Amino acid sequence: MSATPPAPNPVFAGLGTTIFTVMSALATEHGAVNLGQGFPDEDGPTTIREAAAKALRDGPNQYPPMMGLPLLRQALARHAKRHYDLDFDWEREVVVTSGATEALTDCLIALLSPGDEAILIDPAYDSYRPIIESVGAKAIGVKLDEDGWRLPLGDIAAAVTKKTKLVVINSPHNPSGRVFSRAELEGLAAIVRENNLLLICDEVYEHLTFDGLPHIPLISLPGMRERTVRVGSAGKIFSLTGWKIGWIMGPAALMNVISKVHQFVTFTTAPALQIGVAHGLDHEQDWYLELPRQFQKRRDALVAGLKTAGFRTMPCEGTYFVTADFSPLGVNEDDVAFARRMVLQQGVASIPLSVFYGKEAPTRFVRFAFCKKQTTIDDALARLNAR
Ligand code: PMP
Ligand code: GLN
Repeated sequence: MSATPPAPNPVFAGLGTTIFTVMSALATEHGAVNLGQGFPDEDGPTTIREAAAKALRDGPNQYPPMMGLPLLRQALARHAKRHYDLDFDWEREVVVTSGATEALTDCLIALLSPGDEAILIDPAYDSYRPIIESVGAKAIGVKLDEDGWRLPLGDIAAAVTKKTKLVVINSPHNPSGRVFSRAELEGLAAIVRENNLLLICDEVYEHLTFDGLPHIPLISLPGMRERTVRVGSAGKIFSLTGWKIGWIMGPAALMNVISKVHQFVTFTTAPALQIGVAHGLDHEQDWYLELPRQFQKRRDALVAGLKTAGFRTMPCEGTYFVTADFSPLGVNEDDVAFARRMVLQQGVASIPLSVFYGKEAPTRFVRFAFCKKQTTIDDALARLNAR
């Protein structure tokens, strides 16, 4: 008899399937309205899809350059200049990836070494932690305050040790829906500068801010250009989440190393989709600037309906999501049980927030997605408000 084969990496062996997949499967199984996993139920611009389809038909369909098609990297540099007055050298400072998920993985692997500490803002997007741990670094979670999801600058400063290498920040923030203010971001930038740290900014919702709030890339703040990388996603800008086209922009010295990871994670990304996204960045600005106006209306409808149903909704300034405290409903169960029961009994799927925490998670919040047609939101609210 042969011996039991060696165990795989415990970081991943110990993980379950992502909460997004679990809740979507449960929603499908029970015919629930899916306000869990964040994806729009209407696809983005036809012109982008046509540009990609033509490129797919006409070819070439061979490996594009490792860093991404020049056409897209140039369009990304123009986009950063147009919206934030940021200058990037498209040849050395922009890398195209297969989604922001790959981009974040590339950055974390490239910038962290075993024994380093990385500060995360909890609740944190679920892909950060396992990647940090898989390189032998430690994720240190600092919690947003539970009254208004404000950035806890004092706690972040207190979490810095000699081992701290970087901070990962996501603004507009998933799952909370906050868009951090200039004062909060300046406070964070000061901590990063004073402690000589690096910063990874997940900005996938950069064009999804509401009520006229600006998106402020942290790399644009004084003294941050050489120590910050920004991550974006065409999936979110153009409602094409299945395309998985993302990017990283940052100082050449860091991008040089990050691209070394990218070359061995995916090497490159489907050329036709890159051509489609380049077309969108240059020619569909009206579309992506209009999208937040549409989603803001959906947010308002969802928030109003959730309040009628008895939830205490939290501030929502951007992203696809609003969080809600269900404790006013007087139920005696945690968020995972509550979210599950809502699918089974009321036919509405959400995402429990505790899964986004490293430790000491609150268990009274769920997240609802409003990146949906008005009719989808109406259907969910009718179910939640049915007596
Ligand atoms: N970061 C955040 C905060 C997200 O919400 C998402 C969306 N799924 C991603 C990263 C990953 O983006 P992508 O789908 O481009 O990989
Ligand atoms: N980013 C999406 C969300 O937060 C889901 C991404 C995924 O399913 N991996 O809902």
